[in-house]
Amino acid sequence: MNPKPETSYPKPRPALGATRADFPILHQQVNGKPLVYFDNGATSQKPRSVIDALVHYYERDNSNVHRGLHALSMRATDAYEGARTRIAKFINAADPAEIIFTRGTTESINLVAHSWARAHLKPGDVILTTEMEHHSNLVPWQQAAKAAGATLRYIPVLGADAEGGLNLAALDTLLTPAVKLFAFTHISNTLGTINDAALLCRRARAVGAVTVIDAAQSIGHAPIDVQALDCDFLAFSGHKMCGPTGIGVLYGRRALLDKLAPDETGGGMVVTVTYEGATWKPAPERHEAGTPNVADAIALGAACDYIDSIGRDVIAAHDHHLGQVAMEKLSAVPGIRIIGPRAGQPRGGLVGFAFADVHAHDVVTFADEDGLALRGGHHCNQPLMRKLGLTSTTRASFYFYNTEQEIDVLVGSLHRIQKFFVG
Ligand code: PLP
Repeated sequence: MNPKPETSYPKPRPALGATRADFPILHQQVNGKPLVYFDNGATSQKPRSVIDALVHYYERDNSNVHRGLHALSMRATDAYEGARTRIAKFINAADPAEIIFTRGTTESINLVAHSWARAHLKPGDVILTTEMEHHSNLVPWQQAAKAAGATLRYIPVLGADAEGGLNLAALDTLLTPAVKLFAFTHISNTLGTINDAALLCRRARAVGAVTVIDAAQSIGHAPIDVQALDCDFLAFSGHKMCGPTGIGVLYGRRALLDKLAPDETGGGMVVTVTYEGATWKPAPERHEAGTPNVADAIALGAACDYIDSIGRDVIAAHDHHLGQVAMEKLSAVPGIRIIGPRAGQPRGGLVGFAFADVHAHDVVTFADEDGLALRGGHHCNQPLMRKLGLTSTTRASFYFYNTEQEIDVLVGSLHRIQKFFVG
């Protein structure tokens, strides 16, 4: 049994339904039915304040940053660097220079896999990860291990129908001094499992391994404090936390980032360039070659403001509540198999399920007729799917603007689907 992650859930706040007014996209019909958006694990919707931040920037301040001395460039630079400071505060980073803007989680993890792994891994070293990783936190490590002659090892997932947690007992044999880097997801995008990130970082530090947390599914859903977690790197995407697509963050300890060779080179990140070579600025500039994604970084800062106006502990409680309601109501649908943590156990705000006789793509297509936005497939977790003996699952993933009534729409739709295909 895994110990329960150190999470306490305050009471869900029913008034969260009022936040729906902030999201223009939610007020529409799909196939003649009110939209029920349950695909938040893939991407979240954007509140008016985030959309306004983009419009405001392009209407008033749009300019290139850092290199200009005119008013617009200075305003754009202030807003861009202000967003970096805002995001540092959002995850309690000690220094804004520890925030590297990237395109998203995938690019953030690749930056570490290219720059850190290239410099530090040698034959015989071990990269440790888990069996529940998204391809974005798996394939880069496969490539890094191959390039260095290192070995990639996996912490097993406990029986996914029973618990869906990591087999922490295996840490005793897997987490040895040969492990140079340990990369793991905070919340599984397929199982909903919440990993005890603080404990995993503690264990990794005891053997001297560098830690990389994939926070794609947790960043907008639970309080994250990188200093309390004591992690070395943490990666996330803006679009899963009410921000725009095309912007994300790699948090890294300043001491590590300043020593890391850049993955990309070009303008903006150099101190001196000669025909023979170049020298690099310290972090964050050395890891942000070229013109950055200014507008989306600023809008990500606005997303932090919006989420903090609700409270991430409140969002976590709402996720947990909807997850438990969904587990209870979905388990009454004939022929359904729900994967991941059992009822009552901590789980992120998502529920994955499968029917023996109905493919997930059919479920999603039929549910769309009822106005539901679900996701079906392997969820970029192909090895985990194979381990579960499945080719695909359907996933309903929630956010603070979702309601219990919407879960009833899902349950009604699944009964209709089950009847149509199985009888
Ligand atoms: N990691 C996890 C757990 C995810 O759920 C996702 C996206 O679904 C990613 C990484 C990749 O995020 P992105 O596509 O925004 O880079």
